[in-house]
Amino acid sequence: MAFSASVLTLYPEMFPGQLGMALAGKALEAERWTLETVQIRDFASDRHRSVDDTPAGGGAGMVMRPDILAKAIDATTAADDPRPRLLMSPRGKPFTQARARDIAAGPGVIIVCGRFEGVDQRVIEARQLEEISVGDYVLSGGEPAAHIILDAVVRLLPGVMGNADSGENESFENGLLEHPQYTRPQEFEGLAIPDILRSGNHALIDKWRHEQSLQLTGQRRPDLLDGTAGASRSKKPGKGR
Ligand code: SAH
Repeated sequence: MAFSASVLTLYPEMFPGQLGMALAGKALEAERWTLETVQIRDFASDRHRSVDDTPAGGGAGMVMRPDILAKAIDATTAADDPRPRLLMSPRGKPFTQARARDIAAGPGVIIVCGRFEGVDQRVIEARQLEEISVGDYVLSGGEPAAHIILDAVVRLLPGVMGNADSGENESFENGLLEHPQYTRPQEFEGLAIPDILRSGNHALIDKWRHEQSLQLTGQRRPDLLDGTAGASRSKKPGKGR
């Protein structure tokens, strides 16, 4: 069975969007994954089809109503649906490469996109939504976050990336950032490709790349090395390949 993604949103026309192009789009066409969008507004019951209301206790903005979102979720997924149910949320657990691998190894994913000031707390609890964040900044809606998650996951599905190996040496896969990359021309604006990459000595090249990775990670993301980034890594750091 192909990996199955369901996205609950007030803006289904944002999908597939960029997920219909390039690598993810080809994989969608090849039916390596399927994408269903659910218009949350279709589950509104009043004449104005409203999905939000003013925050209890006062304050700015609007909050998504729990009853309507719950109906949309119940119509999309049976109680025994094994797919994780993610709610896009800046308060959520940070999304990582390790989590992308976990999701890609499973049957699919259900993604709920918030809008306005967010979602009534009770539906998060009642439908056991797992809050996931794509970074420490606030988006105007969960849709771009859903794109990020699906993009990161789909490229890891079997048969999607051309070179199976290219997924494994990348940033975060071994707890490190990737080494610098070079290609032709041999000389660009007076800058040459490092000699070692032209040596043909693969053991030395691997060693050089690993050292570059370590150095770069130390400079830019020391949190990956000292372990405080926690979930970012899928394997122990410092292991060359
Ligand atoms: N008032 C909320 C922010 C609401 S932003 C707060 O301060 O926490 C509106 C919606 O955008 C959210 O419900 C969520 O679905 C989405 N969103 C915003 N920032 C996000 C982030 N960093 N990661 C994932 N989703 C995000």
